[in-house]
Amino acid sequence: MSTERVKVVIRCKQCGERYVLRGRKERGRIDTGFKQCICNNTDEFEIIEE
Ligand SMILES: [Zn+2]
Repeated sequence: MSTERVKVVIRCKQCGERYVLRGRKERGRIDTGFKQCICNNTDEFEIIEE
């Protein structure tokens, strides 16, 4: 199984803050290590893979 390096944009659905991160894609799942937004939101995100 290969691990793909991806660039990901994470947008907070609560405050609209955007984060550009590099992550790894494994078995269709993206792992960026991102935990929470500055507004304390931890699970309402839109994730855009670039
Ligand atoms: Zn936020």
